[in-house]
Amino acid sequence: MTKRTKSSAKGKSSSGKNSGGGEEVRDVFPQEGEVRDRIRKIACDTAHSHGFLRIETSPLDPKEAVFRVFGEAAATRELPIVRAKRKSWILRHSPFLSVARAYLAGVGKRKIGQPAKLFSEDVFFPPASASGAGSWHTSLSFHIIGGPNDPIYDAQVILVFSRLLRALRLQGAKIAVNSSGCKVCWAPYRKSLLAYYKRRAADLCGECRKGFAERLADAMQCRNDLCTEVRREAPSFLDRICAPCSRHLQKVLEYLDDLGVEYGMDNWLPAFVPHGSKTTFAAKVAVGATDYTIASGGRYDYLFESLAKRLIPSVGGALNLEMAVQAVTLQQPQRSWSRRGVFIIYMGEVAKRRALKVKEVLRESGLYVGEAFGKELLHAQLKVAEKEHFPIALIIGLKETYDDSVILRDLKSGTQETISMERVFEEIKIRLKK
Ligand SMILES: [Zn+2]
Ligand SMILES: [Zn+2]
Repeated sequence: MTKRTKSSAKGKSSSGKNSGGGEEVRDVFPQEGEVRDRIRKIACDTAHSHGFLRIETSPLDPKEAVFRVFGEAAATRELPIVRAKRKSWILRHSPFLSVARAYLAGVGKRKIGQPAKLFSEDVFFPPASASGAGSWHTSLSFHIIGGPNDPIYDAQVILVFSRLLRALRLQGAKIAVNSSGCKVCWAPYRKSLLAYYKRRAADLCGECRKGFAERLADAMQCRNDLCTEVRREAPSFLDRICAPCSRHLQKVLEYLDDLGVEYGMDNWLPAFVPHGSKTTFAAKVAVGATDYTIASGGRYDYLFESLAKRLIPSVGGALNLEMAVQAVTLQQPQRSWSRRGVFIIYMGEVAKRRALKVKEVLRESGLYVGEAFGKELLHAQLKVAEKEHFPIALIIGLKETYDDSVILRDLKSGTQETISMERVFEEIKIRLKK
């Protein structure tokens, strides 16, 4: 049963492409880097407050482990292989596999408790055939592994993602939930679904008609009118779901209701994690007519079975950082990401030396301080302050240097006043609070 789909990992970042040595590679430049850092911080804070502990996994997975989980299919997918000392490793291919492998190693060394609530940030490398050579993505993932097989863990992982969406202040963000069954109930359902799609192949959109047998999950999520029409009459999994899977789903939904998590059932949502079963979920953000799947996850007990020949209850989800950056920057071009701090401007060489000292004093007291000491002209420095969205500037000229004062300029209204250095810290704090 291979239910892997092209999930959120498909995200392409608009910025930061460059070409070096002929092959296209992606770098992240400061403007995007800053948005990434803010999202990272929100994810880290969320992890801490929900009791998820940081794990950092090796970027190299043993080739045998990857083949065991992804089967022979892995061999044909042009995975980036690293060879050293006659051994082969594969560059991290799935954050779920890496965390599962590390979990087994950690339990072996008695370094991980039960159940383990883990938070991980990983760069991973999708197959070249899917995203082009040299492409990489970053995932921020949350996992609960081990302990009893309890649907409360599924709900806790989904809760984390709903809190993340809220903290990111994304408009129209939705969490979709579904069950992807188990080995007992899913396989016969998939068979009947495939038979149905085979019968209706001619009615699908051009994109889905090609190789829908391998990419059934994509056809199920396709928003083309032709495909939605075909899907309307497709057999529903809820008619085939087995009793244990149905009970599990019911429990997860009850917990989510108790927690006040908003979600929608999507009966066509595929399993996003490798060897996914039972709960599957995705966090989607609509920007214009496009849905951005910024996070996805689900249960992956079977991944452990293929990796270590034993079922281990496990559920997790991953935020695709590149997708989240795209959604955030499209929805919030600058506003909420503007800097909370002051920008220091100097006029003349004498004032420059004082400005440097004032910057250090303010920075030491915990303020974020920007400057453009390389530029001499007042308007050139102001331009940088505006471009970087500072709300306040402190201007220091010769007069202010001798008076021990600064000119405090509100960059939104353009008003300014001279205040003594003694009052400057208090005054900035009051204005930043507004
Ligand atoms: Zn089942
Ligand atoms: Zn389609």
